[in-house]
Amino acid sequence: MITHDSRQAAPTLADARALDAMDKLAPLRERFVLPDGVLYFDGNSLGALPTAVAARISQVIAGEWGTSLIRSWSDGWWAAPLRVGELIAPILGCAEGQVVVGDSVSVQLFNLMTAGVRLNPGRARILVDADVFPSDHYMASSVARLLGVDLAAVPMAELPAELAARGDDVAVALASAVDFRSGELWDVSEVTRRCHDAGALVLWDLCHAVGAIPVGLDEHCVDFAVGCTYKYLSGGPGAPAFAYVAARHQDAIDLPLTGWHGHQRPFDFAGEYVPAQGISRARVSTPHILSMRALEESLGVFCDAPIDLVRAKSLALGTFFFACLDALPPTLGVGCITPRDEQRRGSHVAVTHPRSDDVMPGLLERGVICDQRPPNLLRFGFNALYVSFEDVFVGVRSLGETIAELT
Ligand SMILES: *Cc1c(COP(=O)(O)O)cnc(C)c1O
Repeated sequence: MITHDSRQAAPTLADARALDAMDKLAPLRERFVLPDGVLYFDGNSLGALPTAVAARISQVIAGEWGTSLIRSWSDGWWAAPLRVGELIAPILGCAEGQVVVGDSVSVQLFNLMTAGVRLNPGRARILVDADVFPSDHYMASSVARLLGVDLAAVPMAELPAELAARGDDVAVALASAVDFRSGELWDVSEVTRRCHDAGALVLWDLCHAVGAIPVGLDEHCVDFAVGCTYKYLSGGPGAPAFAYVAARHQDAIDLPLTGWHGHQRPFDFAGEYVPAQGISRARVSTPHILSMRALEESLGVFCDAPIDLVRAKSLALGTFFFACLDALPPTLGVGCITPRDEQRRGSHVAVTHPRSDDVMPGLLERGVICDQRPPNLLRFGFNALYVSFEDVFVGVRSLGETIAELT
């Protein structure tokens, strides 16, 4: 991937177009529905609609539901949570049989965190990244109350020192690979190793990493992970989450959500719960089939988009964004809290402006869709499957114009 050299003069539209012309992933944009006049920088909150999904869902409704009726459960619906898990596995860098799809991130997190604490008995503390998504924190707090263990929130930068000093009573540590506000990327390998050195298990939230960054779950010996499919994976609003449980833990975990789909022989309808072997144990109950089938179709795009190429382009888009941002007049008061170092940033950039509340409507009027997080952040997400360098150039130019009009 050729990137814009930020030491050069201010980037031009011609520079952006030249980068687009060299971009091997550029043809994939055709596989998404993007309205005319819209520059979409919010694929990190709701991924754009893949073109193939509408026809697939019509066929699922008319054929699988309307015509095949109950027979569809044995013709593919029952197996869907595992089958779709196998499509996500290569994106996460893991071998088969370790990913299952269903429910929401918060539910999966509750389930796996409880199982993790039970798997590491005699330890009385859960550690969470202090900047983790609030729902994660709420769930961890509930797990702590239920199991009678303590919960401590520690900034990610201090996690290694905390683990080294007082890690011997930590059962599970919960961390986000990419900070949902700042876009800062943490080292999954290093943090996992620190947890294991202290005898703790690790649970990763990959919501802002999956589909944007190679995470190498097997290579880094991660214990548990959860993540969204409606962000970079474009599974659609409310698309089911995924859960990863390392093969070595699967037959030992005692999950709190013991629904019938996680039973060893669900169709015995037996009175007593006997957990399934393997990743099936992490199934709960009847999944949202329409969402699951939409997600399955969306994941087809990743067959032509190896995650390393996606990452390289997303970094290049970010680098170009920084170059465009640097060319804005300093008097506009635009700042940025995302690290520039490629090792330390994910796939969105968080810009600051003291009047972000007023900037947002102006951007929307110009067709620029990003999002806002308190107190003063504007997040620009770069989904390499459909964002172009020209989008970035025009998006930052619009940002400058919008702010200039305010003052
Ligand atoms: C989007 C997001 C979630 C969403 O959780 P749901 O339970 O699916 O609503 C959780 N964690 C992080 C870090 C997120 O970015």
